[in-house]
Amino acid sequence: MEQDKRKSEVLGLRDSYLEMSLTPMKRLDPKIVNELQQLILFASSTSPWWRKRLSHANFKARTVQEVVSSLPVTSRVDLQDFFEEMKIYIPNTDPNDYILQKTTGSTGQPVQIVKYNPFYSRESDAITLLEWKWHQRDVRKKMGLFRLGSHDVDVIRAGPPLEYLGEVAPMFQRSSVDCTTEELLEAIFLHQPSYLLTNPLSLKLIAQAQLSNPRRIAKIDQILTLADRVDESLRELAYQAFGARIIDRYSSVEFGMIALQCPKHNHLHVIVPNVHLEVVDENNLPVPKGEPGRVLITGLHNFAMPIIRYEQGDIVTMGEPCDTGISWPVIDSIQGRVRSVIDSATGERKLLTLFTADFLSMREIQDFRLVKFDDGAIFLAQTRDALSHDQEERIRSSLKQDVFREDLNIRILTQRQNLRAPRWKVREIYIVSRSTHPHWAISDVEDLLETADFE
Ligand SMILES: [Zn+2]
Repeated sequence: MEQDKRKSEVLGLRDSYLEMSLTPMKRLDPKIVNELQQLILFASSTSPWWRKRLSHANFKARTVQEVVSSLPVTSRVDLQDFFEEMKIYIPNTDPNDYILQKTTGSTGQPVQIVKYNPFYSRESDAITLLEWKWHQRDVRKKMGLFRLGSHDVDVIRAGPPLEYLGEVAPMFQRSSVDCTTEELLEAIFLHQPSYLLTNPLSLKLIAQAQLSNPRRIAKIDQILTLADRVDESLRELAYQAFGARIIDRYSSVEFGMIALQCPKHNHLHVIVPNVHLEVVDENNLPVPKGEPGRVLITGLHNFAMPIIRYEQGDIVTMGEPCDTGISWPVIDSIQGRVRSVIDSATGERKLLTLFTADFLSMREIQDFRLVKFDDGAIFLAQTRDALSHDQEERIRSSLKQDVFREDLNIRILTQRQNLRAPRWKVREIYIVSRSTHPHWAISDVEDLLETADFE
């Protein structure tokens, strides 16, 4: 009974999203204004901290832009410093229904978010089903999952919300961190899936390997990508190697799904019922369509920990309205995080990621950079206080066990002031190898921070 009730709620929510996606924005705007004001009222009436923080909220505003521009921008450091203050207990709810999620630290500044799971999971399930509907996928066709930090399984049951759509074909799963490119391709050959979920970097490696040494693999209909950014060259590569169309999405731990790829075009549509997204300049004012700007995101329904005008850390360019009838704002491009690959001792290329790293939950670390050299690694951190011996050891063992999976020399440097590395791109882990950078050494990282161009 409980299951049936949830199923009808999720399907109902998906249908309302479908309807909203075809409703002109000027008719959706008043609804969002109303939701935002409810969130502000709720937070202000629950805690003195929120009352002060939102004291300038404009309750006479008629547009979403007027509401948000009266509110302060939230940085990652705010989330780190005011984690306790930002949490809200929603009256008459079960404390066990709250979940704590942590970011994978791709920007170097790990944060933790509290969500009220019954609301959050229902919305995120409805968005998943909306995405399946937009892209007309069939649950009876086989799907493979290449995920970070997961086990290798040949038969897994999908469960909700996909089972709400009917009998779902069993899926298979591989760990994209532990498997080599060859092993991932082998799994595709074995299972011949119609759909594949993967991160873009693993996709690039398997597509290149397939093109240089083709296996008998039938056409893959759609390759669903998550986490990192997809560019046109990767779309072309996926098409050449597997005949597949890439279906991308934009998501973050803080908000869940932020934007979904258009059913027809390669651009993304902001999920208006879930988030409000602004693209702003250095003064936090909106930039015109077609020009890149910093993205600020407001979650519309996280009453357990409101996140308002949050500096997500990505650079986004908005596009012209879509010709499919979908009214939700168009994102033309996103510049976000980049992951790294490493050549193992056996010559295999492998994905290197902080996804499962234990040290990310250490609240002492405000910001960090990680540089891997052939003979060791540098962990440079901005911290509030000096790290204790035990804290340093926790970082060291986490890096050895969770990240590099080998025993290597790790040098830890800490400083109180902001990390400066102006010429660095946003990368999870920076790789310096003797073959590409013969003059850079683990001993002179301080100089590298100032002068090096990390790609
Ligand atoms: Zn579109």
